[in-house]
Amino acid sequence: MTKKFGNLKIVSFGGRAGFFAEKHFPRLTSKLYLRYIRLVSARGKRGYIDRCLAEGSAPLMCVEVETINKCNGVCFFCPNNRRTDRRPTQIMTEEVFCKIVSDLAARDYNGIFFFNGNNEPFLDKTLCDRIDYARGKLPLARLEIFTNGTLLTDAILDRIAGKLDLLLINNYGENYTLNEGSKRAIAHYRAHRERYGDMEVIVKYRYVRQLLTNRGGEAPNKKNSSRIYRSLCLVPFEESYIFADGVMGLCCNETRRLVEFGSVTENDVFDLFNSPRLQDIRRQLAQGRNHCEFCKYCDYESRGQRGVVWIRKYADKIKNRRRNAGSPSGRSPRFLRSLYHEIVKS
Ligand code: SF4
Ligand code: SF4
Repeated sequence: MTKKFGNLKIVSFGGRAGFFAEKHFPRLTSKLYLRYIRLVSARGKRGYIDRCLAEGSAPLMCVEVETINKCNGVCFFCPNNRRTDRRPTQIMTEEVFCKIVSDLAARDYNGIFFFNGNNEPFLDKTLCDRIDYARGKLPLARLEIFTNGTLLTDAILDRIAGKLDLLLINNYGENYTLNEGSKRAIAHYRAHRERYGDMEVIVKYRYVRQLLTNRGGEAPNKKNSSRIYRSLCLVPFEESYIFADGVMGLCCNETRRLVEFGSVTENDVFDLFNSPRLQDIRRQLAQGRNHCEFCKYCDYESRGQRGVVWIRKYADKIKNRRRNAGSPSGRSPRFLRSLYHEIVKS
């Protein structure tokens, strides 16, 4: 279900009925959700994984940067919700953040740059400055933020309007209603639409107790079973996850940090992403989840970013052509951006 106003979308999975089903039939909806993702992401997975292994490297398509390791949310499926997370607070230093951006800028990075991981990014009071910095250094990258929206103020919205490619507000709640932060963001967009330019704002209704995946054993509301899932996991082939101290981890689910690949302060981000240790893990995962200790019983599924590769290729071509022709924004056309969303973010 989608309501649209310019680049603002208010979405939900199945509207009120979907929300009701998630609330009252959690096991059924979790099963259906996983089946659906497996179905839509299965095509070409094996071929893609084999190609990455044969080439000895994987293209970096997505960087998730946790500039602060805390959240004020209480989502029952998330290991980092404020009720269960026991980690001491850590905020990424400016030095580490700039190093990540400069490594990406040196290679004209054109993938997705997330200013969030398993956290609430706006708890980081320097986030707006970091967005300005990254926007200046990474003109080709897609800058995105996923937030629970609770900390959004008019002052913050004024600062970020038009600077990101996507602001996605997960409107978590017990009921199918909009939270104050979501209402504020919608009103701000409606009042200042021209300042947002091509930036998309999506508000998504989410049930806060939703049963999703076991996240390798870390989801508080879904424990591992002894079932081993046969579907291949693409996450370490496409995405890198950087913790607040600058260390690259396995994925957004591995928050206990049992598997780490080194710090970005001493290594280039791309070198870490294709380090021998990460390649080893990819080889193990290519044989099946059970070949990698942490992943053995994980039922997490991602739709993957592969679909964006060709879109990005053509979008970049058009962007460059527009820049050369003197267009100030050089942004890719609307249909490519919406196609991207259909494939990756729906
Ligand atoms: S899902 Fe997001 S908002 Fe919810 S507790 Fe986890 S990090 Fe916080
Ligand atoms: S199987 Fe699960 S824990 Fe392992 S890399 Fe994939 S998502 Fe992460």
